[in-house]
Amino acid sequence: MTDNANQLLATHQAANLILKHKVDRLQVIPELAIKLLRLSCKNTCAIELSVLIASEPALTAKVLSNINSVTFSPYQKIKTIQQAINILGDSAVRQITLSQLLYNKLIYNKADFSFEQLFFWQHCLYVATLARSIAVELNHDDPDLIYSAGLLHDIGKIILETHATVSYSDFIRHCKGDFQPSHKREQQFFGLSHAEVGFIFCQQWHIPKQITASVYCHHDMPDDTSQFADCKHDIAIISLADFIACVQGLGSTTLNYKPVLHPEVLTQLDIEAINIKKLLNSVDNEMHNNCAFFGLKLPNLYRLRASLVKSAIFSSHGNAQQHSLPGNVSISSLTIPHQSLDPDIIVPATLTAIQQDFHFERLIMLNINPRQRSLETSYSWPESLKDGSLQHFNIPIDILPGTLLSNLRERKASIINSNHKDNKILLKPFKVDEFLLFPIVSNKRLVALLYADNYKSRKTIEPQCLTYIAPIIHELGVALANARCFILEKNRAELDALTGLSNSRMFTEFLTNTFQLNLHQLSQIAVGFIDIDFFKQFNDTCGHQVGDEAIIMVAQIMRSLTRPGDFIGRYGGDEFVFVLQNTDKQGVYSYAERIRLEVEQQGKILSRQFLGHQITISIGISLFHKEFNSSEKIISAADTAMYKAKQQGRNCVVIV
Ligand code: GH3
Ligand code: MG
Repeated sequence: MTDNANQLLATHQAANLILKHKVDRLQVIPELAIKLLRLSCKNTCAIELSVLIASEPALTAKVLSNINSVTFSPYQKIKTIQQAINILGDSAVRQITLSQLLYNKLIYNKADFSFEQLFFWQHCLYVATLARSIAVELNHDDPDLIYSAGLLHDIGKIILETHATVSYSDFIRHCKGDFQPSHKREQQFFGLSHAEVGFIFCQQWHIPKQITASVYCHHDMPDDTSQFADCKHDIAIISLADFIACVQGLGSTTLNYKPVLHPEVLTQLDIEAINIKKLLNSVDNEMHNNCAFFGLKLPNLYRLRASLVKSAIFSSHGNAQQHSLPGNVSISSLTIPHQSLDPDIIVPATLTAIQQDFHFERLIMLNINPRQRSLETSYSWPESLKDGSLQHFNIPIDILPGTLLSNLRERKASIINSNHKDNKILLKPFKVDEFLLFPIVSNKRLVALLYADNYKSRKTIEPQCLTYIAPIIHELGVALANARCFILEKNRAELDALTGLSNSRMFTEFLTNTFQLNLHQLSQIAVGFIDIDFFKQFNDTCGHQVGDEAIIMVAQIMRSLTRPGDFIGRYGGDEFVFVLQNTDKQGVYSYAERIRLEVEQQGKILSRQFLGHQITISIGISLFHKEFNSSEKIISAADTAMYKAKQQGRNCVVIV
């Protein structure tokens, strides 16, 4: 597991996307619990601890009443936290308080939850108690810290349950019947695992490093370059305790999967030094006390054994079953469409996934072109179809049989075969007896159709496969809608709405990036400003709308005369910019002259339409100079050149 800065930033952003509130506004556990966690366990004096706990009277009362009811006889009442520390020791009081605080927060009333909190709480308490005992066995110098790490190791699940737009309960419902380890499925479902979410929380609240490390890495040991490489021993203790809890049926949820112990745990810990039988026995006793302390009836042994047996049965099914849904659809087929926001990646990957699950011999995406009233081929599996005969598949909508059209209107899939005589006209061009047509709906609009056939083997298409493909096609539609939204937003942010050229923000960005080039490449760039002459007058004569047409005309001329790779944009108003690369004085001058001349000529042709006004432009250019240490300098020089062109009588090109 690596954790470089970029990856951390991406994790943080991903967390903000799935949570209802921004990470910095997460109120997951009480302030006092955070203060207790931050108090160094080893070096805190008992007074500090008692002052901190006593600052919350309600909590103090609860802790004292529990201690009195469970641990000691009624004749020897403990009346203050200080007294409790004197008798039980600060370590025990800290543990009791911390678990009381977390318990108050975690167990709450919710009518419908798959995320069974009692089960979860039992898991956290068990891992904490066990991990602490392992730490003591191994002479760890701070077993209380390990206890805290155990209590908190799955905090990411609580955050997802209580703060995510789609809750952990939803996730559990989604996973029923699927038996891969849950942290892998979380990645597919939320885009983040509970460990990553927990990590973001710990970072936000400055939880001590060893605890953060255990929260983040308890499923996956850090590599040697990680900031947590020096916490491997602590992480290994939590991982081992988590593993032991799971193999006893004491997992954090009722999901079934076979627990896996990271191999490095065994190199980090001297397992031989641990007396497991003695350990389990003492932890059982502690758990018994814990239950009494919280007044809880935890799930009984039979239920735990039942869940253990169930997970063993299912995990013995082998890999083929583990990753598939009914109809042998692999789970990855459902998530593949969401792996990108680029249709050129989304669609081919989805076609490949469908092919792998259903073994069609040809898959073609047919886009609906409403203007041409036709279906047009866009993507295919195998991709090699594209090189040859794909355009033969273009179909005019008007020839589609009525039954197919009404199916499409109702967004229903159809198997087209020769049983119906109206279908013959469709089957002929494809040279098949049968094919499948699936509507792809994106944002409630029918945007495309998926065509599939077995043209070589002529194998019959089973009607039930329609049911199995439907969820994949649904996900594809959602992913395409997301992609469309993304492209629209991106364009809105980057393009000028009137001309479709890049806007001034993109110009600045392009130039800033260009200034990262080496000196040799920079010495071959030129920046130019173009400004329409007397445009105020033009607007006054012809009106703003015609003015807009003139602006579009200049943009089109620039577009038609610019090489790919060079930059053109609308700077604002009647001003345009360009950046040429690999050029020199002569090259940029002739480029600018071509544009100026073309505008002049078009201006002459359109002068009648423009009520006698002849559109012309002035152009100012700056070549790169070694004294230009920033992009602003070259912009300012080009701007000055443009004003010189205005002074020299307009409709001309000036280079500085
Ligand atoms: P000069 O030759 O010195 O450039 O004279 P000018 O009249 O063109 O002066 P300037 O470039 O300062 O004026 C720009 C004018 O462009 C001002 C404004 O009325 C007009 N303008 C700015 N944006 C738009 C637009 O989006 N559409 C239209 N139609 N006109 C615009
Ligand atoms: Mg102007």
